[in-house]
Amino acid sequence: MYKCNNCGAVCTEPDTIYDSVPYGSTYVDYPSGDKCPSCGSDDIEEVEECKMCGEWAAVEYDLCQNCIDDIHQQVKRITDNLKGIGIDLAVLDDIIEREMNA
Ligand SMILES: [Zn+2]
Ligand SMILES: [Zn+2]
Repeated sequence: MYKCNNCGAVCTEPDTIYDSVPYGSTYVDYPSGDKCPSCGSDDIEEVEECKMCGEWAAVEYDLCQNCIDDIHQQVKRITDNLKGIGIDLAVLDDIIEREMNA
């Protein structure tokens, strides 16, 4: 899927941008890029559905940046607490491992 960063529309296939290029005594339309079918902007990117919030976005590990930031904030709170009282962060590996295999 593709998402337009200008109007937010999501589409399966973007429209093609054609440039008129001189060819002998005439012009030919030469494809030069992709554009949004809704607003015509070329500011589009390939997106996938975020497995956590369902948004169409550029994803990493099946998650959008918002959800990664969200997880980051929660993990940061926990690690800051552990560091604050001097607990070895290796305890997190054990807990995560246990939860993932539960
Ligand atoms: Zn658009
Ligand atoms: Zn998300």
